[in-house]
Amino acid sequence: ASEGRRPLVAGNWKMNGLRSSIATVEQVLEGLTPKLTDKIDVLICPPATLIASCVAAVTGSAIAIGGQNLHARANGAFTGSISAEMLADLGARYVILGHSERRAYHHETDNGVHAKALGARRAGLCGIICVGETEDEREEGRTLDIVRAQLGLGVPKGATAEDTVLAYEPVWAIGTGKTPSTADIAEVHASLRDMLGTMVGKAEADKIRILYGGSVKAKNARELMAVENVDGALVGGASLVAEDFLGICAAY
Ligand code: PGA
Repeated sequence: ASEGRRPLVAGNWKMNGLRSSIATVEQVLEGLTPKLTDKIDVLICPPATLIASCVAAVTGSAIAIGGQNLHARANGAFTGSISAEMLADLGARYVILGHSERRAYHHETDNGVHAKALGARRAGLCGIICVGETEDEREEGRTLDIVRAQLGLGVPKGATAEDTVLAYEPVWAIGTGKTPSTADIAEVHASLRDMLGTMVGKAEADKIRILYGGSVKAKNARELMAVENVDGALVGGASLVAEDFLGICAAY
């Protein structure tokens, strides 16, 4: 539930999708009613190889396209990397930053996420900054300390609702079918918004969207999206099938 904030339902395709997957974007486009897109923003983050063709497929529609990662610098000798300017040049409007898979497999740090967020801002992209605890951290009672530290270090000074979205994604809930209780999600989201308030002021903090991610499916979306301070979803597995993703959008 998001008082005054426009919900965002974002799909993260991760390393999935060939050119044939543009059909999925077209099916989502066909399934979204104006009644729905009047209320919510819809975003699909395909692999970088498909961004240009996805942007072409959604031109003039309510769907936005985003990247899943970027290099903090604008250009240079960084073989294999893609800058914010390159994503923006293709028509991407958002970029996921600091996803737990990038933190785990590519050694991304909070300082690195901070630099990338500045890169996104420089190019006019909205950065979706991901935070979340591991199962051990939750069991040790450290969830709030972990996510608040990730937020404090990752989100740059002067963040606004235009250039920043937060996503709370418990690592143990990603791709596992497990989700925290709605009370636990409410506690984390309230704590994140409180922390944002100390960083950017309460008025701006109240505008910044905080998504929940981790095993969001059509069947649990309504319950999860109704939690206080939950302003949308970051969806992995269920974003790969148009019907499933549309089912989540329909929670609104
Ligand atoms: P999941 O992934 O929906 O498959 O759990 C979420 C994410 O990693 O963003």
